[in-house]
Amino acid sequence: MSLVQNIVRAVTSEKTFREMEEESLRWKLTCKECGFQTSIWEQGGIRYKASSIKKAMPGRCPQCGTKQLFPVEEEESRQPLS
Ligand SMILES: [Zn+2]
Repeated sequence: MSLVQNIVRAVTSEKTFREMEEESLRWKLTCKECGFQTSIWEQGGIRYKASSIKKAMPGRCPQCGTKQLFPVEEEESRQPLS
């Protein structure tokens, strides 16, 4: 985990922290160069009950190494299996 994630974990309950993880994992960053997809969580960030939508996040692609402003998109919610 990143430093930010460790700090947040220290000051929140286990349940809240899990909710943060789940929500952050739904927000995807896609590399404009190679198409590699990762999540805000995997990049060491946290997104939780945000009031405004952040459209881009600066970072480096783990696959091709390109520094860029990643477009941030929420993953479409999957249909629950019934
Ligand atoms: Zn890339």
